Amino acid sequence: MPPAEGEAIEVAEGVLWMRLPLPLALDHVNVYALDDGDSWTVIDTGFDSKRTRAIWRRLMDGPLGGKPISRVIVTHHHPDHVGLAGWLQEDFGASLWTTRTAWLFARMLQLDEQAVPRQETLDFYRKCGMDEEIFNERKSERPFNFSDVVAPLPLGFRRIKQGDVIQAGGRHWDVHIGNGHAPEHATLWSQDDNLVLSGDQILPSISSNIGVYATEPEADPVADWLESCERLALFARPDQLVLGGHKLPFTGAPVRMRQLVENHHGALARLREFIETPRSAGECFPPLFKRSIDKGAYGLALVEALAHLNHLYHVGEASRTLRDDGAWVWQSVD
Ligand SMILES: [Zn+2]
Repeated sequence: MPPAEGEAIEVAEGVLWMRLPLPLALDHVNVYALDDGDSWTVIDTGFDSKRTRAIWRRLMDGPLGGKPISRVIVTHHHPDHVGLAGWLQEDFGASLWTTRTAWLFARMLQLDEQAVPRQETLDFYRKCGMDEEIFNERKSERPFNFSDVVAPLPLGFRRIKQGDVIQAGGRHWDVHIGNGHAPEHATLWSQDDNLVLSGDQILPSISSNIGVYATEPEADPVADWLESCERLALFARPDQLVLGGHKLPFTGAPVRMRQLVENHHGALARLREFIETPRSAGECFPPLFKRSIDKGAYGLALVEALAHLNHLYHVGEASRTLRDDGAWVWQSVD
């Protein structure tokens, strides 16, 4: 059972598990607090909203016992993880520790406010073969803006990187960097017991979204993901308690990491067969998703479809041409 709003569960000595709500299909994010004696280190922060700030204040007065948060470690730049880092820095004097890429992306996107999508983004949607009705809605709407759910980030941060050892919560943690879901995603592996702070790099029961965006349309994050899973699997043990960004803490990391790889190989094989007839990214949902995709999930499904098509293209298993309607269409290569 997850912790109730404003409450915490001690999952190991000196390690608190808390939850914050998200107004999305995935309706929560997990955050953790590590007891450093006279203060706390917090792992990830939730979206910036009035409601989430109020829950944090309740947590600080309640389970955190009024002891200050001196440090926030952000696993990756996604808004549900970095959203309140700047607030914890500015209003509570916490220092921000994260990877350089996570910090750069978060700060760049937080500053890049747009009232309507740029032409570049619209061209990208066209190339993805976005559904016409959804395209027409999106082109004049205010897009999702980082700054709507991420507090301004001060200038300074402390960089963490592959191979670092961090002391927090009475433990030494090895930093291992993953990629694919987000670039330079930090994961923390305890040297002293069985805990792993995995962010969204290793999740139970749901697959981390792997998407290609207008920022880097040719990217191959599926390759990055597969490489990360193979590399991080070397550190996985069945007895580890994996504390991820969503869903429940779990054990059995070696099996789960094999599944994460196999799921993508399966999806790629189905997709390859599906594009024996040339298709755009927007036409490739059936082989990738078991459920039907509603409007709320459309954006994530589209970037995920493109990621898998890009991978087939980059490994030489698909060719790509531009169709008359401006959409790329992919076809499998024998
Ligand atoms: Zn994420």
